Amino acid sequence: MLNFTFSNEQEYFREMLREFSLNELLPQYTKWDREKTHPRHLWKKLGELGVNGLRIPEEYGGSGADCVTTGIAAEEIGRGDFNLTYAVMLNALASEIISNHATDQLKKTWLPQIASGDKIVGVAITEPAAGTDAAGIRSTAVHKGDRYILNGEKSGISAATIGDAFIVFAKTDPSSGSKGISAFVVPADAPGVECKGYDDMGNVPIGRGSIYLTDVEVPEENLIGLENNGFFQVMNGFDLSRLLIGLQCAGAAFQSIDETIEHVKTRQAFGRPLAKFQGVSFPIVTHYTQLELIKWQAYRGLWLRDNGKKHTKEASSVKWLGPKYAQEAIHECMLLNGHYAYTKEMPLEQRLRDVIGLEIGDGTAQANQMVIARELIGKQFRPY
Ligand SMILES: Cc1cc2nc3c(=O)[nH]c(=O)nc-3n(C[C@H](O)[C@H](O)[C@H](O)COP(=O)(O)OP(=O)(O)OC[C@H]3O[C@@H](n4cnc5c(N)ncnc54)[C@H](O)[C@@H]3O)c2cc1C
Repeated sequence: MLNFTFSNEQEYFREMLREFSLNELLPQYTKWDREKTHPRHLWKKLGELGVNGLRIPEEYGGSGADCVTTGIAAEEIGRGDFNLTYAVMLNALASEIISNHATDQLKKTWLPQIASGDKIVGVAITEPAAGTDAAGIRSTAVHKGDRYILNGEKSGISAATIGDAFIVFAKTDPSSGSKGISAFVVPADAPGVECKGYDDMGNVPIGRGSIYLTDVEVPEENLIGLENNGFFQVMNGFDLSRLLIGLQCAGAAFQSIDETIEHVKTRQAFGRPLAKFQGVSFPIVTHYTQLELIKWQAYRGLWLRDNGKKHTKEASSVKWLGPKYAQEAIHECMLLNGHYAYTKEMPLEQRLRDVIGLEIGDGTAQANQMVIARELIGKQFRPY
């Protein structure tokens, strides 16, 4: 049986979030970018609405929702405030890593506070010399007595300046490649941790930046899962975050299309509404169609994950084309709105800047094509 319907609960959740997103988030979306501030109060508000803890089990303060429901949240929050979709995507990624692999003590310490929005936990893999080639990281974690000592530099990390802790990936066996990597919870206020923000073109309220680790000591309980197994633990999490990113980008682009449709129905040129010109309506149709394909491929991937089926290449296809199609759609919407859309009076220029960030973050187009090639053609033919 093939069934594309969402449950009544999911439809209700979508409706509730759509209303909140358009009424409470959208009017202030550009404010946080212009002021270069992070709206922690809205992050907490999303916690009250159950958005932050969707992938956290109920016993740790979350709602234990399925992945499809989490996708609905990414899409709907994306309509109102693209940057607050990190409360869905980043929280889902960090929470799944902690829920699935960490000690009960770590779960009790961090998961309820992530769910409520009181704490933000970032995921720190990338380094100045290793991005796409994530197995090439150089940060180290040395086991000494009942502690690990971490040294290194993480770069490009979302929430670097607003995070309360980071899941830091470091080499515990520098002689092996991906097999020698472990993951640790590192509180942002631990001695030896220094975070510095970037002057980014988009995603400004998310406070991306570098994290410097100098002889940072964490108790051995802060190791997540098995030593030397960190790389494989997070790779599975990316299959979720990549599907959510596709939906958050699609949400921002669908909202741009809705706003543009309203504009072209009312704006007159040559004695008729713009919408009457095929040169205006066909580009809208093209972008809408491309985004629908992304949306349904994303929900299909989430459904596969909920049902314990393989969904790696589906996730990478959504991550590769979702931000790209969304970016192209928003760009076109800007042009169809004319010169006012080029000003900062309208949200379109910011949506464009914000969405472009996730053409890179969480893996570039090529990184995702490499994943699909490996799945489709075979591991032995994996391109580098
Ligand atoms: C908005 C944003 C948020 C981010 N958030 C986080 C975060 O929270 N945590 C984190 O750890 N990192 C984060 N990053 C970093 C991101 O994951 C990396 O930037 C990304 O993986 C690419 O790595 P790089 O920048 O080092 O580029 P490189 O790996 O140097 O790649 C440069 C270019 O070469 C291409 N390339 C590389 N290898 C190949 C190949 N084999 N074949 C073909 N092309 C190739 C890439 O696709 C890219 O176009 C974020 C980045 C951005 C922009």
